[in-house]
Amino acid sequence: MKWFRRYPAAPPAERSNPVRIAVLEHDLLGIEPAPGSAAALAVALRRTGTCVEHRPVETTELRSPCPTAICAGCGTNMTDTPDGWVVAGTEEP
Ligand SMILES: [Zn+2]
Repeated sequence: MKWFRRYPAAPPAERSNPVRIAVLEHDLLGIEPAPGSAAALAVALRRTGTCVEHRPVETTELRSPCPTAICAGCGTNMTDTPDGWVVAGTEEP
């Protein structure tokens, strides 16, 4: 009589969250997620400006003529004015 030893099956490999991958592709490479997907919803929700008050983080480059920033909460682009940081495109000329 021959005995066979059963080895436990290897656990399935960990897979990264595809929604997170799609959002990172959007952030880093500019690839728009498929319309109607969970990733598109995640990106769209960030654009709604869920901040009560924006928290600008300055991102001005060395040779940039005007100071720029993005909001640490919602990622909105902001520019500096004499009155303080405002959402880009809404500043008065
Ligand atoms: Zn914000």
